[in-house]
Amino acid sequence: MKIGQFIAEKGENLSFEFFPPKDKAAEDQLFKNIARFEALNPAFVSVTYGAGGGTLKNTRHLVLRILQETSLVPMPHLTCVEQNRYELKAILENYMKLGIENVLALRGDPPKGAEKFTPLKDGFCYAKDLVQLAVSLSGFSISVAVYPEGHCESPNLEMDMYYTKQKIDAGADFAITQMFFDNSYFYDFLERAAKVDIKIPIIAGIMPITDIDRTKKFSQMCSATLPEHVIQRFEKVGSVAGDAKKIGVEVATEQCADLLEHGIRYFHFYTLNQSDAVLQVVSNLGLQNLGAEGVGGLKKSG
Ligand code: FAD
Repeated sequence: MKIGQFIAEKGENLSFEFFPPKDKAAEDQLFKNIARFEALNPAFVSVTYGAGGGTLKNTRHLVLRILQETSLVPMPHLTCVEQNRYELKAILENYMKLGIENVLALRGDPPKGAEKFTPLKDGFCYAKDLVQLAVSLSGFSISVAVYPEGHCESPNLEMDMYYTKQKIDAGADFAITQMFFDNSYFYDFLERAAKVDIKIPIIAGIMPITDIDRTKKFSQMCSATLPEHVIQRFEKVGSVAGDAKKIGVEVATEQCADLLEHGIRYFHFYTLNQSDAVLQVVSNLGLQNLGAEGVGGLKKSG
């Protein structure tokens, strides 16, 4: 069974995102953290690609280690940046050979210094094209990225939803949202998605804030509104690290509690390779109960 079918049937999801660590010490630390997440039986864990996380080699290495050394189901992210369709096909075929059955298909951001995304000759313009390629290989459960506040390049929310629907109809089994801090954008997105008949699971992407300055920059980069009242809570405690972390956990716990109250059962945590804050939020809300029972069975069932 693949992730898409599994979580759709279960009606709930708990999952975590990691990025490829830069060196051996960071990788050792990450695997200590991964063991803590493994105990929660998440439906899957995902591994970023490019965007500061390095190369295909790094992503594939981490995905394979997770596959071989843990009971977790890893899902690599893959982007169309600076790769043509033949290279992308070879990467997907290699993943299939290695037993990777799930992929997050992305267009990717323009490379550093470039103002807009320009495909290579024989490259793809949009994530939709990569979804179509993965579908044509018939071995993958495919997920895509969605944006509660609209993607930063979209002219308006209507066109954003139009392209989102196209990308999903190309063959995506589930979607993961960009991080958001104001749930009203997510509820609005779900309503707009339902209106255009999007029926696949849409997983809420949650990032507990561990560093407010970094989050401010990051949220600006990806057009995710950071509410003023959240910023003020961090400003009150200033730069006292322990206090700021406590606020970050409180804010994310409140955010997820509200989502739960609104019937949301699909959660994906951006961990930034750290475990304490995310585990605390999961524990505060009993979200570990969303973990896939017998996830080893999922991995073995093919
Ligand atoms: P697309 O869906 O292709 O959309 C890109 C833009 O094109 C949008 O504005 C869309 O509206 C527009 N568009 C789509 N189709 C058409 C069309 N037919 N005509 C005109 N316009 C169109 N980046 C990384 O580099 N590595 C990662 O690992 C990574 N992981 C991510 C994980 C998640 C959950 C999310 C939400 C984002 C992630 N990103 C990652 C960031 C992502 O690559 C960027 O947001 C990128 O700018 C858009 O990728 P996309 O797949 O959403 O693109």
